Amino acid sequence: MKSLSDRPVYLISDLHLDAGRESTIQLLLDFLRGPASRARALYILGDLFEAWIGDDAAGPMEDRVADALKSLSETGVELFFMAGNRDFLVGDDYCRRAGMRRIVEPFELDQTDPAAVLMHGDILCTDDHAYQRFRRKVRNPDWQRRVLSRPLWWRRILASLARSISRRQNRNKPEFIMDVNTDAVAETFARHDVEWLIHGHTHRPAIHDLEIDGKPCRRVVLGDWHAERGSAVRIDNGQVELLSLDRNAKDHIALTPLTPES
Ligand code: MN
Repeated sequence: MKSLSDRPVYLISDLHLDAGRESTIQLLLDFLRGPASRARALYILGDLFEAWIGDDAAGPMEDRVADALKSLSETGVELFFMAGNRDFLVGDDYCRRAGMRRIVEPFELDQTDPAAVLMHGDILCTDDHAYQRFRRKVRNPDWQRRVLSRPLWWRRILASLARSISRRQNRNKPEFIMDVNTDAVAETFARHDVEWLIHGHTHRPAIHDLEIDGKPCRRVVLGDWHAERGSAVRIDNGQVELLSLDRNAKDHIALTPLTPES
């Protein structure tokens, strides 16, 4: 058995867990029992859940996920949770139940070789002005406190309204607006003394080789999880790999590296 500090660190995002998508939930539970159980730490970079309207609305699916995460954390694997644009209302209560520590973006991961800056990714989509306005509003602690003090039925209506508005708006947005902005990426590298940026959100898994101010940088985009396929980044022994996560013939989790592209 490798000592804890020699073990890899895994990062995942955009699982969009929903009670109606059992195969993705199963894939996560198998990932937690498999590769993640041999890790030093697991970082969840947002959108673990498709929707979240308060810890008090957690049902059997959310309980199962919390139990599985908690058992993993009790074996010594450190768990970290960063909010995404769908589950930004996940609270301290749920994090405690799941054995996760909350981290806030941009988060500098300096316990690994190489170091990296971590984000969910939506904050980099600065071309989408309407979304950034919405984001500023709903990430405001006062707004969140007000909303969370409302009854559950009211929050359910608000969430379904927000979803249908966002669906309608996104249908009419050109592709580039939904992706990260080049200047926002360059600013992130300028502000943090790291060569790696890892984020999710756009569901466009890739490793982008960049040169910013004469310095080589890499932006790694995690993919989303759906049905029997997931995505993860592994940092191990000075290496960063973007992995596709599938079930192999023996019903084990298979991790296949994706190659860099520009
Ligand atoms: Mn997202």
